[in-house]
Amino acid sequence: MKENPFHNILQKLEEIKPLMNLTNRELALLKKPARIHKANLKVGNKTYAAFRIQYNDARGPTKGGIRYHPNVSEDEVKALSFWMTLKCAVVNIPYGGAKGGVVVDPKKLSPEELEQLSRAYVKAFHEHLGAWKDIPAPDVYTDAQIMAWMLDEFEKITKRHEPGFITGKPLELGGSLIRDIATAQGGAFVLRELAKKSDLQPAKTRVAIQGFGNAGLNMAKILSQWSYKIVAVSDSKGAIYNKKGLDIDDVIKHKDHAGSVIGFNGADSLSNKELLELDCDILIPAALENQITKANAHEIKAKIVLELANGPTTPDADKILFKKGITVVPDILANAGGVTVSYFEWVQNVSGYYWEAPEVLQKLEKAMISAFNELFEEYKERRCDMRTAAYILALDKVLKAERLRGTIK
Ligand code: NAD
Repeated sequence: MKENPFHNILQKLEEIKPLMNLTNRELALLKKPARIHKANLKVGNKTYAAFRIQYNDARGPTKGGIRYHPNVSEDEVKALSFWMTLKCAVVNIPYGGAKGGVVVDPKKLSPEELEQLSRAYVKAFHEHLGAWKDIPAPDVYTDAQIMAWMLDEFEKITKRHEPGFITGKPLELGGSLIRDIATAQGGAFVLRELAKKSDLQPAKTRVAIQGFGNAGLNMAKILSQWSYKIVAVSDSKGAIYNKKGLDIDDVIKHKDHAGSVIGFNGADSLSNKELLELDCDILIPAALENQITKANAHEIKAKIVLELANGPTTPDADKILFKKGITVVPDILANAGGVTVSYFEWVQNVSGYYWEAPEVLQKLEKAMISAFNELFEEYKERRCDMRTAAYILALDKVLKAERLRGTIK
């Protein structure tokens, strides 16, 4: 049966209640999204269900991507909006959390229909969106072009420019430099800090990466530039492995013309299942959710799992990995580089002053190191797994903001 991510969150909140001494009122507040907006979007003679869910805005305007996928459900969007709330709190950016979704297979739409759908989304929800209300961004199957159409529609409706209404835009419309590699770069900074604490020498550290898209490919590139030994990478077609380390630039060239990492010269083929269970030091899931489950968690051999993907480890698997002494760096920290540079994009938009790439990179590094150190202290102090520590740290920040507002006493 498919995992229901929102049910898992409710269960996790119950587990955390005694650890944080949450009152019933606080728990009830954390269990419920602030606002759920729904609409049916019409394109030609077809109708698509759409959502925008604003989970919590105590710390600032809500922030979160819009996903186009045939399996999007209200509970999935709720879960993603909850995680955005926590992610923004973990990296100390002044936002709450939201998420959007449209139940559609975008691969079946023509470019014209895709544009109409994206404009229809903004027409349906524009009253609830804006630079100081709720700021969307790309997510699964939405990209910079879709953000550009959405910005244009929003500005047509509101009759003024407001580039900070949405992030992940093309550079020409106010996007930020570094945004394209931000998720991987942020994860790499976190890994570097953790490696220092764990005494891992890059050249002796074997890394396996599942997924070779925006997050996985850029992570492989950055870590190989830092001398880590990338022993395996994969995409939807399968995995490749070389225990001496892969030449990542060559793998990228191969993927560019062959369309997959499969068939790369000088490497053995593996299945994606085998990649996850490989004898290595660091495993980086960077593809899909629910990849490490109770069915394979016992077989994981890596010492560290760094979650670049959202939700790659199920709650049952989390418990097994913890018992095995494997450190799981949770998604809400590991992939927060993306939302951090989205925040920088918004800061540049609302101030009208644009930064050079080194400035963005330096600010990202500072933000990720400080978020990592803050979480690492909480984790050491509580002697729990890092995800639980991250939840506690983030929820505490949300509740402090709620208390200051007088929502709870
Ligand atoms: P992407 O579409 O660019 O890449 C996904 C990669 O996963 C592709 O290489 C694809 O072939 C591979 N893949 C698909 N099915 C697979 C399978 N069964 N086994 C192995 N590989 C498979 O997506 P992305 O932007 O890199 O996102 C990957 C993950 O990172 C997602 O969970 C996403 O939510 C998360 N994430 C991405 C960003 C970002 O800024 N891109 C930010 C935060 C979180």
